[in-house]
Amino acid sequence: MVGWAGDDLFKLGNVFRDSYKKVMSSDITRVCAVSSNLEAQPACARCAYKPYCGVCPVYNYATQGSLWGNMPSNDRCGLFKGIFETLFALLKKPGNAAILKKWVQRTNTEMVA
Ligand code: SF4
Repeated sequence: MVGWAGDDLFKLGNVFRDSYKKVMSSDITRVCAVSSNLEAQPACARCAYKPYCGVCPVYNYATQGSLWGNMPSNDRCGLFKGIFETLFALLKKPGNAAILKKWVQRTNTEMVA
């Protein structure tokens, strides 16, 4: 998405010329790994939803101009928090929890098949 817009920041290399080791040890691979780590995000490191969440450096860069982004004003973070709040509110009711667990089991079964 960013590359199509003419910005090669996330270009890892050339699959025909560059070795796997070179791509995996490139600066952009390293910075994406670090900026994807929730423990490196001040807001995420303290967030109750951290075990269920993840951040996207590409989204952060495209929308906020920084691979790390700014979670308090990040729309993706806001959307995820809303989803988590809704799901955990639903899970408080045993009947809802059983339905959600059945959906997860069905999805896992379909993925294996
Ligand atoms: S909900 Fe937001 S603050 Fe919490 S872990 Fe996810 S991205 Fe980070």
